[in-house]
Amino acid sequence: MTDYEVIIAGAGTGGATTAITLAQKGHSVLLIDRKERDKIGDKTCGDAIGGHHIKELKDMIGLPDLPKDVIEYEVAGLDLYAPDREHKISMVGPTTRGVSFNRLAMGQWFVELAEKAGAEVLASTRVKKLQFEDGKVSGVTIQTDTSDEKHLTSKIVIDATGATGMLRRQLPESSPVEKVVAKEDQMVAWRDVYETPEYEFDTPDMLEIYWNQEATLGGYTWVFPQGPHRVNVGLGVMTIPGYTHPKKIFENFVVPNWDFMKTDLKVIDSSGGIAPIRRPIDTMVDDNFMLVGDAACQVNPIHGGGIGSSMLGGVHAGEVAHEALETGDTSIDGLWAYNPRYMESYGIKQASLDVFRWFLLNVTNEEIDFAFEKGIVKGIDLLSVSMTGKMNIGKGEKFKRLLSGIGKIPLLLRVQKIANLMEEIKEVYSEYPDSPKGLDKWKARLEPIYKEAKNI
Ligand SMILES: Cc1cc2nc3c(=O)[nH]c(=O)nc-3n(C[C@H](O)[C@H](O)[C@H](O)COP(=O)(O)OP(=O)(O)OC[C@H]3O[C@@H](n4cnc5c(N)ncnc54)[C@H](O)[C@@H]3O)c2cc1C
Repeated sequence: MTDYEVIIAGAGTGGATTAITLAQKGHSVLLIDRKERDKIGDKTCGDAIGGHHIKELKDMIGLPDLPKDVIEYEVAGLDLYAPDREHKISMVGPTTRGVSFNRLAMGQWFVELAEKAGAEVLASTRVKKLQFEDGKVSGVTIQTDTSDEKHLTSKIVIDATGATGMLRRQLPESSPVEKVVAKEDQMVAWRDVYETPEYEFDTPDMLEIYWNQEATLGGYTWVFPQGPHRVNVGLGVMTIPGYTHPKKIFENFVVPNWDFMKTDLKVIDSSGGIAPIRRPIDTMVDDNFMLVGDAACQVNPIHGGGIGSSMLGGVHAGEVAHEALETGDTSIDGLWAYNPRYMESYGIKQASLDVFRWFLLNVTNEEIDFAFEKGIVKGIDLLSVSMTGKMNIGKGEKFKRLLSGIGKIPLLLRVQKIANLMEEIKEVYSEYPDSPKGLDKWKARLEPIYKEAKNI
């Protein structure tokens, strides 16, 4: 007899959605967070989400509409600016609609939904250690600021502790789960939220992304208005050797180059954060153990958005945990179905975009300016890549664009090459193994694709 059927470490959007899914099915769930109850959800973020993620969750677990106090402003689309800032691509359509939101209110709402569904929430409590029995996960050790360590047991432990993957890293060497996320697969970011009483944003319903390989290599600057007089502005960069701390880039690049930064600003928040930007962890389960959200690297590798996918991961994890509890098999085999289900619904696209990320790293400002100026890259292509992970250029159209890009044939050939590799990795992911036995062989197929992508 265990204390709970499932213990979830971390009550962010990933952990809370897992808790909602499991509690709705009548399981005993303990959702633990180190933050105080009324601070859960308070996190460094761009505070934007596509409406399609919310709709998906509505269909899957009956997520209600976002409450009014969560929404800061309705978003219509996105303007992507070339490094010269003279040329931009506007992406507006049904899939770009969304909201900018209040991060704390969003987090609080999710925890309330978990509580309402029947999960027990334990705030101000740190999950410190994984507990093992006969070499298998059997529970956790927790501690508050004022109490001694306490052991709790459960049939399944879920690590939803965010980018630190704090429990994942404690798995034994023999576990097939990757414990460490490489530096080059992470993004560090700095962002401020301001009220801008002297400055009015012309198009507060358009998010702005600025691409500049010299200032923000492997990342971008975002200016996300949250209304005519409020903005979330930040930047993220890949943590590759020699990267510059994002706060420094903020001071030296963002502050002098945006008009609103020169007006009187009321600082609402100023802080840094980290996110994984790679394919999902190759197996997100072990015996009695699952990973959800950032801890499972369920983040879009190109734009770094991970709230929607953490919720999606949470639903799949919750559903598979439920099935495993019903059959009484919470071993790695019993939980395995979570891997292919997530891969099919989002992981395959993540993997394809992860390959694309390496190509983007090797593109120069001059090449991007050229591609934007000549219309070689179109909003529709970018939308399609970011929604499906597929580079979708029709044949006649492609020929015309090749001609217009005649001065830059090598770039276009490289685009073609990376498009092929993106297709290749998608094929590998469509053959994700149906049991742990096939994992090593499957993983070996990924390596040559990444190797090639890094050299294009
Ligand atoms: C700068 C930045 C901007 C971003 N902007 C966006 C955006 O605009 N849109 C978007 O969709 N995504 C964005 N993301 C990504 C998004 O924030 C994450 O992908 C998402 O929050 C992941 O949810 P999660 O539940 O996995 O983790 P988290 O939201 O990080 O939640 C983890 C929870 O675990 C708790 N915890 C950690 N360790 C312990 C412990 N030992 N014991 C108990 N509790 C613990 C934490 O307190 C936290 O509440 C951004 C990320 C960064 C860094």
